[in-house]
Amino acid sequence: MSERRPDVRLPPHGLDADAVLARMDELRVDDRDWRGGRVFSLVYSAGDAVHDLLQRAATLYSAENALNTAVFPSLGRMQQDIISITAGLLGADRLPPDERQGVRGYLTSGGTESLLQATRTARDWGRSERGIDRPNMVLATSAHAAFEKASHYFDVESRRVPVRDDFSADTDALADAVDDSTVMVVASAPSYPQGVIDPVPDIAAMASERGILCHVDACLGGFILPFLGRLGHLDKRWDLTVAGVTSISADLHKYGYATKGVSVILYRHRPLAGLQPFVTSNWLGGLYGSPSMAGTRPAGPIAAGWAVLHHLGADGYLRLAEDAHQAAAAIKGAVDDTPGLALRGSPDATVFAFGGDPDDGGIDTFALGDALADRGGWFFDRQTPPDSLHATVQAGHLAVTGRLCADLTAVAGELRASGRRAAERGATYGTV
Ligand SMILES: *Cc1c(COP(=O)(O)O)cnc(C)c1O
Repeated sequence: MSERRPDVRLPPHGLDADAVLARMDELRVDDRDWRGGRVFSLVYSAGDAVHDLLQRAATLYSAENALNTAVFPSLGRMQQDIISITAGLLGADRLPPDERQGVRGYLTSGGTESLLQATRTARDWGRSERGIDRPNMVLATSAHAAFEKASHYFDVESRRVPVRDDFSADTDALADAVDDSTVMVVASAPSYPQGVIDPVPDIAAMASERGILCHVDACLGGFILPFLGRLGHLDKRWDLTVAGVTSISADLHKYGYATKGVSVILYRHRPLAGLQPFVTSNWLGGLYGSPSMAGTRPAGPIAAGWAVLHHLGADGYLRLAEDAHQAAAAIKGAVDDTPGLALRGSPDATVFAFGGDPDDGGIDTFALGDALADRGGWFFDRQTPPDSLHATVQAGHLAVTGRLCADLTAVAGELRASGRRAAERGATYGTV
C-alpha cells in the first residue's frame, strides 16, 4: 500500500506552473539515471530526438479520450494503423490471404492488460465453445507474473510446469498438465526472467492437436525479434506464422520505444477476437462498448506510439535492434569471461539474467548488484530463483557498454578476492 503522508494537503492557493515544475525536479533527485544508460529495465531509449517526438505527440493528445473514437476519428485511425503495422511485423503478412484477413487486434494499456485480455478471452471461449466452467491454463514457470494476475482476476487456474535446464518451456511437461478443462497453453518469446524463446512450434502444435488455444507472449520480443531475425541474429520461429498460435501480444512501450501505456494483442481468428470487447446496455447511460479494461483511455500513448512507428520506420528499428544486439552480446561476453559468473540458460535475444553461485565457488549475485550500483550507478533488477541480476539491454545502452563491462570485470575481481555476500536478499520486480 502506498504510505499516506498525513501532513500533505491540497494547497489552499494554487502554485504557479514554474513553481510546480521546480518542486517536481526536487522530487526526482533520487530517481535512477536512465538517460545515462544506468537502468536495465523499466525504460527503453531510442535517443533524445525520439523522446522529444514522443513528448510532442503525447502532448498534442493530452486532453483527448480514446473511449469514443467516433468523437476523435484520428485516434481510431491511429489505433488501426498501429494494429496493422504490428500484425505485419508479427507475421500476418506472411499468412495466406484468407487467413491474413482473419487477424484482428486491439490496443491495450500494456503487457499486463494484453495477457489479462488473452486469458479472459480464453476463459470465455472455453465456456461458450467447450462448456468448460472451471477452466485452467497451462504455462511454464518462466511465463510472466501477469498470468498469475489474470488467474486471480478471472478465476482461471494457473498450472505452472517447471522449465528445462536451459530455462525453456518443456513441451512434454506442458502436454502432461493439459486436461479437459484446459483452455489455453502459453509460450513466451522470449520469457522475461531469462530471455529464452520457448519452442513455440512444438507448443502450438501440441495445443492445436488438443483443440485448445495457444497464446504467445511476445510482449518483450514483439518489436525486436522481427528485426533481429532480418539481421540474421535469430532463426527461431515464434510468430503468427506458426501453426496453432491463436493469439499473440507485443508491447509497443518496450522495444517499440513508445511512451508507456501501449501494447497490442492480436487474434488469429476473427471470432476469437470478437470475444474480447465488453458491451452492455444494462444501465441508464446507453449502449456502452469497450475493448479494454479501462473505460476512459489516454490518447497520448496511442499518439506517441503511432508517431514513433512512423518516425523510426523499418530502417530505424533495424538500426536500434543491431545496437541492442551488439550491446547485449558484449555484456553477455563479459559475463561469460568472468570467473565466478554465468548467464542463466542460453538467452536468445537482448534480455538475459546472470549471476554466481557462492556455494559453488562463485560470486554472490546480490553482492555483485550492490557493487555495480556503488561503482557506476548501474541498476539491475534482482530476481530469484535462481539468484540473478536481470538485464534488458536496449539501444540506449550501447554507448555505455564498454564502461559497464570494465566495471563488471573490476567489481567481480574484488568480490572474488573478498568473498563478500550481500545481507539484503530481496528480489523485487514490481512494488505495491
Ligand atoms: C513486460 C512483460 C509483460 C508485462 O508487461 P507490462 O507492460 O509490464 O504490463 C508480460 N510479459 C513479458 C514477457 C514481459 O516482458
